[in-house]
Amino acid sequence: MIDWDGYRLVTVDGDGTLWNFELTLRRALQRTADQFAARLGGVGPAVEQVTPAELRRLRDEVSARPDYAHASMDEIRRASFAEAAARVSIDDKEFVEGVFVDYKDYRFRHLVHYSDARPFLTALRRLGLLVALVTNGNTNAKKAALCDVIDASFVAYDVGLKKPDPQIYRHVVERMGVEAHATLHIGDDPIEDVDAARAAGLSTAWLDREGAQWPPTLDPPARRLTSLADCMP
Ligand SMILES: [Mg+2]
Repeated sequence: MIDWDGYRLVTVDGDGTLWNFELTLRRALQRTADQFAARLGGVGPAVEQVTPAELRRLRDEVSARPDYAHASMDEIRRASFAEAAARVSIDDKEFVEGVFVDYKDYRFRHLVHYSDARPFLTALRRLGLLVALVTNGNTNAKKAALCDVIDASFVAYDVGLKKPDPQIYRHVVERMGVEAHATLHIGDDPIEDVDAARAAGLSTAWLDREGAQWPPTLDPPARRLTSLADCMP
């Protein structure tokens, strides 16, 4: 259990904490692959080349290129779709743009929330606690349709600081006007969420939804949760 009286602010991660990023991404990329398949006539070796896994691999390949070091996630995703199109000889910028716009729209409209996320955030707000989202991804509270239960969003690309740099947590508590020791951070990543936030002086809780192994090289987490319902106020 968590003694909520000791806190004024709760910061939460997004991907893997409030919403199922993996499932959301897989569904969105399957939709994109289906659009490529339709464009390619539905059958043939080219269709086999554009799978969700391949679209994912191309995205990682593009993001590793030096000229994309400072690119936004949107720029990287768009370029990876263009690359996928080029590989199957689709020379059609409008098609690529259409697929990209549809992907983005679908990905946010069909974001798969964990069922405990909204009730948990609602309960925190009822206690009078401030709630802030801290994410390295590109989903803010508005895109996640959680504006009514999250006070502020800190998206790494916009802030110019990225987890696991503890500076992002110092920036968040300062902007929220709360001391680090009166802040609890909850997230699923041992390094980005737990280790980095505690280095900035925040209290932390590791959300281990999948029964993962805590990295032996890190100090153990102060709290381990298997769901947000575990610590419902
Ligand atoms: Mg996460």
